[in-house]
Amino acid sequence: MKISFLKTRFLIYLLFLTVLGSFLFNFLLTRQSSITYKYFIEKPAAYNLERSERLATSIYKSFQQEVPDPSMRNIHKFVEKYDEIPFLTVNFIYQDDGDVTRSVIGNVKEIDILRAEYVYPIKYGSQDIGTLMIYDINKEYAKGMQEYRHILNITRLFFVLLLFLLLSILLYREYSTKIEQEKRIAEYQAVHDGLTGLNTHKYFREHLAQAIMRAQRYKRPVSLIMCDVDHFKDFNDKYGHLAGDEVLRAVSTIIADNVRASDIVARYGGEEFAVLLMEIGGGKSHKPGKTKTDGLAEEALDIAKRIKKLIGLTQVRLHSTEANVTISMGISTFTGKDDYKPEYLISEADLALYESKNNGRNRITVFDPATKQFTEYQ
Ligand code: GH3
Ligand code: MG
Ligand code: MG
Repeated sequence: MKISFLKTRFLIYLLFLTVLGSFLFNFLLTRQSSITYKYFIEKPAAYNLERSERLATSIYKSFQQEVPDPSMRNIHKFVEKYDEIPFLTVNFIYQDDGDVTRSVIGNVKEIDILRAEYVYPIKYGSQDIGTLMIYDINKEYAKGMQEYRHILNITRLFFVLLLFLLLSILLYREYSTKIEQEKRIAEYQAVHDGLTGLNTHKYFREHLAQAIMRAQRYKRPVSLIMCDVDHFKDFNDKYGHLAGDEVLRAVSTIIADNVRASDIVARYGGEEFAVLLMEIGGGKSHKPGKTKTDGLAEEALDIAKRIKKLIGLTQVRLHSTEANVTISMGISTFTGKDDYKPEYLISEADLALYESKNNGRNRITVFDPATKQFTEYQ
């Protein structure tokens, strides 16, 4: 739920960045090609030195005609008009009343006269008015450069975005892998006991209900073995809880190793284990020869005997010594009756286990649901 929400949000974000990025990129390409064409291909082709020289001379001549009197207003108008010419910059510098050098356009100093290609001192009579300066520079080129710089900045922004996108993808992948891992661990922990690695009580109950339903539908037997370690409290008291844990692990391994993969072994409680054997009947009292479970009838008991024997024989290595425990078991079998509840199988196996405990422990008791009889095995 949380992950899919995150995924949706990330996808929207990704889509947004992609659309934005492609718009930007498209804009960049279009602008760049139009600027290249306009300022660096079309205009320079029209530009040449001879022409600019001719232009400068004619501007000077025009100045003499168009500015018959030396009023600053007329000079201004003139400069602004001719400054429109693409390949030349026209300016006029003069001294104001306070002897400060000023220019009509911008803030040009006297020294800048040296940079102008065409310089015409303007005199009216004997009076120096100022200097008409014509720069042989490609203003369009400068403009183009300026626009190029803009484009460059946008390109930078685009790459920053791209970088951000890549970084987001990397971060997201790392984050989602971590979440997936955590989810898998949580899923595993929900159905596996931390100490023994066996299935949990909850998992067992869910599968028991399913197994009973299947058994009812297909009329197949299901057996349950309930196991309880004998005098485990005393064991803990004598050897300590860590040693007790070690024993629980050893017992779990023996049980799990001696059933089929399709069977369910769960830690039912502290030192209690439940083994659900599918399609296996539970011992002699199950009337072999009369049902489909022929040949399977003895299997649950055989499995229980094998497990009990192995546990009894196993010396568990403890810190400074070795010890072993015994186990009591109760078996009950369900053979496919219609009005049956999973809880019945648990309580019947429990009753059988109780019998084993009462009769001296370290034994197996089989409950026959048909006769309500208990049969005990050592
Ligand atoms: P009985 O033969 O009648 O079953 O006697 P018992 O001592 O085994 O039974 P009881 O129910 O009195 O005690 C169960 C003990 O199991 C008590 C508890 O400390 C121990 N136990 C339960 N879970 C764990 C565990 O995870 N680790 C350890 N070391 N001990 C546990
Ligand atoms: Mg117990
Ligand atoms: Mg016990």
